[in-house]
Amino acid sequence: MAILERGKDLLSPEMLLFANAVEGGEAYVFCPRHSDKPIEYFCKQCSVTVCVKCMFDEHNGHELIQIEEMANSLKQNVLDLQKMLVNAHRLNDEN
Ligand SMILES: [Zn+2]
Ligand SMILES: [Zn+2]
Repeated sequence: MAILERGKDLLSPEMLLFANAVEGGEAYVFCPRHSDKPIEYFCKQCSVTVCVKCMFDEHNGHELIQIEEMANSLKQNVLDLQKMLVNAHRLNDEN
């Protein structure tokens, strides 16, 4: 389970949620605070996904990444995470 713990360090719960959506082919996850607003940015400062409302409200002036950029970097991270998990399964099978 050490690898799963490492995965958690690699991706915050919000990032995992978004990573799952990206993996599942869903372009957007809706804002947890504003359920009618799709996530459009990721706040680097707070490590949370934010919508336009959040962006102008509590994340005003924070360092934000566009979701497209986020998806690209996340896909890389997800692939790394998957590789780690596959390796863990292989180790379990050998033992
Ligand atoms: Zn919001
Ligand atoms: Zn923020």
